[in-house]
Amino acid sequence: MMNKVVSQYLKTDNMKKLAIQGGRPIRNVKTNPWPQWPVWGKGEEKALIDVLNSGVWSYNGPKETEFNKEFAKFTGTAYSICTVNGTVTLQIALEALGIGIGDEVIIPGLTWQATAATVIDVNATPILVDVLDDTWCIDPEAIKRAITPNTKAIIPVHLYGGFADMDAIMEIAKAHNLYVIEDCAHKHGGEWKGKKAGSIGHIGSFSFQLSKHLTAGEGGAVTTDDPILAERLDALRNCGRRPESTMAQSGDKGIGDYGDDGNFIQSGNLRITEFQAAILVEGLKRLPQQNALRDANGAYLNGLIKEIPGITPLRRDPRETQKAYFNFAFRYDRDQFKDLPVSRFRSALEAELGIVVDACYEPLNNCSLYVPHTKPARHKLSEAYWDAIDPKRFSLPVCERLFADESVCLHHKVLMGSQADMDMMAAAIQKIYDNAEELLDQ
Ligand SMILES: *Cc1c(COP(=O)(O)O)cnc(C)c1O
Repeated sequence: MMNKVVSQYLKTDNMKKLAIQGGRPIRNVKTNPWPQWPVWGKGEEKALIDVLNSGVWSYNGPKETEFNKEFAKFTGTAYSICTVNGTVTLQIALEALGIGIGDEVIIPGLTWQATAATVIDVNATPILVDVLDDTWCIDPEAIKRAITPNTKAIIPVHLYGGFADMDAIMEIAKAHNLYVIEDCAHKHGGEWKGKKAGSIGHIGSFSFQLSKHLTAGEGGAVTTDDPILAERLDALRNCGRRPESTMAQSGDKGIGDYGDDGNFIQSGNLRITEFQAAILVEGLKRLPQQNALRDANGAYLNGLIKEIPGITPLRRDPRETQKAYFNFAFRYDRDQFKDLPVSRFRSALEAELGIVVDACYEPLNNCSLYVPHTKPARHKLSEAYWDAIDPKRFSLPVCERLFADESVCLHHKVLMGSQADMDMMAAAIQKIYDNAEELLDQ
């Protein structure tokens, strides 16, 4: 049952003792480090120096224009608009759609806090719903149950290696006249039935923060096919100014409802710099290959670990034609590991592999970084609103179970090495399985 290569790792006597108990780790990261993240090369070096010497460090510069053009092409959308990060992308997406006071936005309870925090920052109400335990993405049935006459939008998050069921979500959205903002912070280049993440809903939101699999340290972009939304988004990231760069992309003269004075909509400065855009142009060239590598390694690794009792890989929906990974994640069942708690399993895996092994995000109904009641001056619009944004009022049993008992997550860089690296990961899990009783009562 066990893969031959995996069992070889575990054959030698000095491999029997778990690393967390002083045994030899499966991977010696001093002599055999994991692939590094981020990845860069001469291209970035040259591009950064070019930007430096050009003196054009920001404001609709050539690198930003080039990246927007390439990223729109890459995502199969008509427009891409860069901004400072993947949080304000969500905020300006909501603003561009006219979502605010009195509106409800349905989001998954398992996501980075920004997905919810931005809804509150535009004075709307986040409605937290549960996820599916096989993909960790928003449950379409839960969306249906949460719809009220005030619902305006859904923000599905394509989490870790999973993809939200966009067929079901777009169908619900159509039936109820709702907007869909895809939070693609984990899904640059992922495809659903041949369509890229960020091209299926009305607006796609991307983050280029350091941990993400296309990065400039910080940064973000929104994508859309709708020229009116594109102009609003463009203005929103540029102090409300007339959206010249979007018009340059579309070649038209602008169709937005801005006035003669050139100003268009109230906003602030959310612009990206040329240095970031230069790095993104280079990074985007590598992304398809990197995604293909992570996809192949992820599929191979899932094939190995699904043979270990108590380990359940994320389900790959057959409609996912290209995987993109932010994390490599799987579920753990302590019943199969002699009742070893998942936190102990994660520590043991960390010791074997020499890399951080995390739980999934904290569910948003009990999340240390999603605490809207700490900011009454901003968020206490009324008593009713104050109650409505209380995260604790939402019940999220699947999110809670994944976080507390089952989730195991590793950074996507673990999928950027060789097949031998995947064998090692599987061997490490198998080693803990074989020795689980050694870790009890400690
Ligand atoms: C990273 C992330 C964001 C926010 O992006 P930043 O660039 O860090 O602001 C939003 N949503 C999800 C799901 C994320 O992982």
